[in-house]
Amino acid sequence: SGTTSIDKLITNTIREDVRNAGSYVVPDASGYIKLDAMENPYELPDELRAELGQRLADAALNRYPVASYTTLKQKICAGLGVPAGYDVLLGNGSDELISIMATAVAKQGGQRAVVMAPTPAFVMFARSAGFAGADYVGVPIKADFSLDLPAMLAAIQTHKPALVFLAYPNNPTGNLFDAEDMVAIIEALGETGIVVADEAYQPFAKKSFMGRLPEFPNLVVMRTLSKLGLAGIRLGYLSGDPKLLAEFEKVRPPYNVNVLTQVAAEFALDHLDVLDQQAEMLNAERTRLSTELAALPGVEVFPSAANFISLRVPDADQVCARLRDEKVLIKNLSKMDKLLANCIRVTVSTPEENTAFLTALKASL
Ligand code: PMP
Repeated sequence: SGTTSIDKLITNTIREDVRNAGSYVVPDASGYIKLDAMENPYELPDELRAELGQRLADAALNRYPVASYTTLKQKICAGLGVPAGYDVLLGNGSDELISIMATAVAKQGGQRAVVMAPTPAFVMFARSAGFAGADYVGVPIKADFSLDLPAMLAAIQTHKPALVFLAYPNNPTGNLFDAEDMVAIIEALGETGIVVADEAYQPFAKKSFMGRLPEFPNLVVMRTLSKLGLAGIRLGYLSGDPKLLAEFEKVRPPYNVNVLTQVAAEFALDHLDVLDQQAEMLNAERTRLSTELAALPGVEVFPSAANFISLRVPDADQVCARLRDEKVLIKNLSKMDKLLANCIRVTVSTPEENTAFLTALKASL
């Protein structure tokens, strides 16, 4: 009724940690050159879009999705290098898979479990761990953005994490961690913890732990179609030991991948060559952009194996404000972590958009 105070209702019902949390902020990008979210700037060619349109028109939207997702899973396994005998779990983006895994491990014998990642890391690791009711422990990486292996191993001893996220390449830094360091972490955890190799940027890095799944029962590999050019359909996939996946499967909401996504993903997986070509063009532009950035006075460019580049500028706030005036949207990393003071992150895009960014950046320096 009119006498119910919504604020009291919220205090009485909503968890304190949720009330105190901020929202996941996505800036309004309309009218901007959008270089803040690692999207592929290229669309499918017109004739493929027309064909996809027909497939989507034929989809039975009155029905729930085919619950087993058999065809889609088979296309993923066959097209994207999942080892024989390994299946995939599908998520509404890898964001949902992060949440599913965090939920599945969050409590052990009435105690909050620990979820760990080297930091700075993708922000959803910490957010999802918290919302799932687990504790999150971030272990700082080194100034050159490599893993601090002794610190990771010590933190594993101390906190006994049930789940460790290792993004390969890492976001927001863009680098690949040393594979041998990652193996040392996987082996140190053994039966006590699951390692997630988050390979969101694998289409650009080309390196992967997928082929090594049979070596490590406590390893799972998570990927997404987002960066490959299908951010809008929201499809992530996770591979690992079938028995372990079956446990995560229990937490997955039914029908989490909708019919439109299913149809679009199956279509795209039949045309992976087109998406791979786009990734090649973006990798060539990454090289060009990195070289041109490195030549700018006062700019420090960090090596990237992903479709974005992190760099340090003299004054990140000023650069971002100036770029915004020029209608170029990038990500200011400055406040995220003390390692990232005056750092910004830019998505690699088309030659034209990259040049627009370079021009605006030069003017801001
Ligand atoms: N992992 C990493 C490392 C990411 O950078 C992102 C996207 N920013 C994701 C996962 C989530 O991707 P999506 O939900 O679009 O699959």
